[in-house]
Formats: sequence, C-alpha cells, structure tokens
Amino acid sequence: MIDLRSDTLTKPCPEMRQAMANAEVNDDVIDIDPTVERLEQKVADLLGKETAVFMPSGTMTNQVALRLHCRAGDEFICESGCHIFNYEQGAFAQLSGLVAKTVAGEGKVLKKDQLVNLINPDNEHAVRTKLVCLENTHNKGGGVVLPSEGVAEIATWAKENSLAMHLDGARLFNAVVQSKKTAADWARHFDTVSVCFSKGLGAPVGSALAGPLSMRKEMVRNRKVFGGGMRQSGIIAAGALFAIENNVERLVLDHANAASFAAVVDQHANLHVDLEKVHTNIVIFRVDPEIGSAKEFVDRCEAAGVWMYPFSHDTVRAVMHLHISDSDARRAGEIVCEVAK
Ligand SMILES: *Cc1c(COP(=O)(O)O)cnc(C)c1O
Repeated sequence: MIDLRSDTLTKPCPEMRQAMANAEVNDDVIDIDPTVERLEQKVADLLGKETAVFMPSGTMTNQVALRLHCRAGDEFICESGCHIFNYEQGAFAQLSGLVAKTVAGEGKVLKKDQLVNLINPDNEHAVRTKLVCLENTHNKGGGVVLPSEGVAEIATWAKENSLAMHLDGARLFNAVVQSKKTAADWARHFDTVSVCFSKGLGAPVGSALAGPLSMRKEMVRNRKVFGGGMRQSGIIAAGALFAIENNVERLVLDHANAASFAAVVDQHANLHVDLEKVHTNIVIFRVDPEIGSAKEFVDRCEAAGVWMYPFSHDTVRAVMHLHISDSDARRAGEIVCEVAK
C-alpha cells in the first residue's frame, strides 16, 4: 500500500528513536526539562523570535496563540479554508469566546486589499477586530507557498491598524525549502508563529509556538489550561529536535515527488491537476464526474494500492512524506491513472 493520506503518518526512524531513548529529562511543569529547553531555544533561533514553547499539537499552539492576542468578544481575520477555522472544532469559539471573520482568498491566498474594510468600528455593537491569522503553506490550498510580498503587505497594514499577526506554520519548513527564504524571513512578519514537528519533519509528536519573551508566561499559562503542561516531555522533544536537525533539507525530495506524481496524474484525460499550484508536498486533483465522486474514486484507488483522502465531492488530496520514495510517487500516479481508465 502506498499511503498518501497525510504527512502525519510517518514513524520515527531508528536514529530518532535512539535520540528519544537517550534524552535527558526532567519535570517540565515543576522545573525545566533540559531537552525541551534545547528544542525551544533551537526553534526560537530558527524563527528569529525571543522564545518558543513546546506543546503537544498544532491545534494547541494555534489556540493558545489566539488567546494571547484576543479576549472573549474579540475577533480574528483568517482565510476561509484555513486549519484554525475548519479543522480545530471551532475551539476559538468553544473555549475562548472568539469570532472568526473568514475571507476567501483566490487560490486560498489573501490579499491586503481584501482586508482593508474589515476592521470593525469601535462601538458597543461590534466584536473587536484584533488579529490576522495566515497559514503557510496552506493545506487546503494544496500546499501553496504564500507570496512573500503579499504577506509583507498584510503585515504592514496590520501593524498600522494595531492588529496582531499569527502564522499557522504547521508546514512552514516546506515553504522555507521551496522559497529558499529562511524561517526567520517568513516569521518576521508575525508576532507569533506555530510550527509542527509531526508533519513533514517526521517526529511522532509536537509543535511549538514562538514569539516575544513578554508573551512566554501567558503561553505557558494557556498551555496549562488546555491540559498541555507536560512532565518529562524531553522524550518527545528529542524526536522533534532530531526532526528539525535532520529532516528539513530533505523536504525537497517530497516536493519533487509531489511534482512527479502530479505530472503523471494530470496526463489522464479525466483527472486534473493545477500543476502551477503544486509548490510543495501536497497534490490536490479533480476527478471528472464520469469516473464517479471523489469518495468513490478514492475507494477504488485504495483497493488498487494507493490510499488518499477525498478532499471535496470532486477533489482528492495526496500528500508526500518521509516514507514515500520517488518510485513510489511515480508508481502511485500510474495506479491512479490505471484506476481512472
Ligand atoms: C496539521 C495542522 C495543524 C495542527 O494539527 P494537529 O493535528 O493539532 O497537530 C495546524 N495547522 C495546519 C495547517 C495543519 O496542517
């Protein structure tokens, strides 16, 4: 089975497991776990931020970030397809009393001009507009890398209007290797940045939220209220450290595999890929109705040995990762075309 459902499926390699087994640990709630501390410092340095806090998931880092920038009765602006709005159970509303103002970006990319009239007036009728959240790379956008000038324009406008900026960078390192910009180059437009170690980087668990030192206490406090205070978490932090030290540059291989898979799939008359949009490790392709719905097509592909998720009624998502070789990627494309016949 060639499993292209997600880049979260990867299992730690023997060297990563060894690093985890050897990790020096301590109670990170009562004291400081030295391995967690090393990871947090490394992430802060990479992102050019003063501090970073290790958390169990990207959902938690995002939700903690929202609470740093917003209070109950505030709102944030985000792209309508983003993870924070679509895939986190509306935690911002359930747990923090926040409202999301969603804006559909062209190809999931927001432009400053779409946002300029969206700040609520300061009166008792409206929720207060406090924050802009962007996602890079954008999952629903098929792993597209945001245009950096566009991000800079939004950030400048946000600053002029006293709005904070948060980046959901679950796949920021995919954007880093694709754009040849550093993580810090991307991060400097944002007050807080969330990154995941358990996506393309291949660690079993963990995310980090980076930002100014002045926010660290609140990050840790909010992590605790969400149940994310962890004790000897150096064990999992060691996996994340290994991932960030060893698995960033190799993301180019996943990107090349996505491109070759996409090229094969797009050759079929009834399968369509916007090849220009295949920037990183995700491929979204459209299935013509005559071969069935995306769900039906995905079921047939699974039976033929390629596992993917339907992404809408007529689109399918395939994701490349550490366990997919270049021949797997090509073979998967051929199987998908075979099934579409
Ligand atoms: C996976 C992901 C997250 C976080 O997911 P968790 O499963 O909670 O770690 C956040 N944002 C994006 C864009 C993601 O793809």
